[in-house]
Amino acid sequence: MLQATRLINALTIDVEDYFQVSAFAPHIARTEWDQRECRVERNMDRILGLLARHQIQATFFTLGWIAERYPQLVRRIVEEGHELASHGYGHQRASDLSRDEFRDDVTRAKALLEDIGGQAVWGYRAPSFSIGDANLWALDVLQEAGYRYSSSIYPVRHDHYGSPDAPRFAHQVRPGLMEVPPTTLRLFSRNLPSSGGGYFRLFPYALSRWMLRQVNQRDGESAIFYMHPWEIDPQQPRIPGVSLKTRFRHYVNIDRTEQRLDRLLSDFAWGRMDEIFLRERAPEVSVA
Ligand SMILES: [Zn+2]
Repeated sequence: MLQATRLINALTIDVEDYFQVSAFAPHIARTEWDQRECRVERNMDRILGLLARHQIQATFFTLGWIAERYPQLVRRIVEEGHELASHGYGHQRASDLSRDEFRDDVTRAKALLEDIGGQAVWGYRAPSFSIGDANLWALDVLQEAGYRYSSSIYPVRHDHYGSPDAPRFAHQVRPGLMEVPPTTLRLFSRNLPSSGGGYFRLFPYALSRWMLRQVNQRDGESAIFYMHPWEIDPQQPRIPGVSLKTRFRHYVNIDRTEQRLDRLLSDFAWGRMDEIFLRERAPEVSVA
């Protein structure tokens, strides 16, 4: 690969468990979360091990709900040189919350993560990329809450999320607040989701790699890749009663993801969101 194309891409992990996925929300009440078998620790252990072997530092958008129950996991993320960021507290879509409810959720998550991790939390990713044209006020709230970037507006057309006409690359959306959208590839006058998640499991690996290379080489931009700990866990308990479409999206090629991720980490240069887009690392904060 040409030297000029060795852009650093951002590796991001949304730290949540398999039963907190939005598509399962109609089947699992939040009040049942505490009774479910948690698998996030063992899956995170494998992901952190993989990153250590590749000597890669990444950004972890972590749920407050998870941080509260697994504080040692949050501390390990920070100790191993990664960026600790926020996925909100309770994994409610921003588009389902009032302004006050959203403020409470993102403020609570930020304070909790900073308390436990001892690192300033600058980044936020909305559950299911649920910021779009109808709730851009959420960006004002994030800015007021002290966040410095969001990675929440996916410029694609999808049945659960997306703002197909939103900008494709990092840009200032409010004074002191940047939006860093998940990566898309512009093809046939459409934005193709090229950022990971379910598409990374669905598409052949070579296609995912080609799309990211196009973004690096043709657009000259860093890509943002995202995944979840449950995506490398073929043994996770199956949720009964979900539709065929949801089942397919959640489980497709789940037994191949870890191996593909290993290749992806070798095939590109990876780093933290704050270092790539803000050009500085979130500092330590004193823990009360
Ligand atoms: Zn999520």
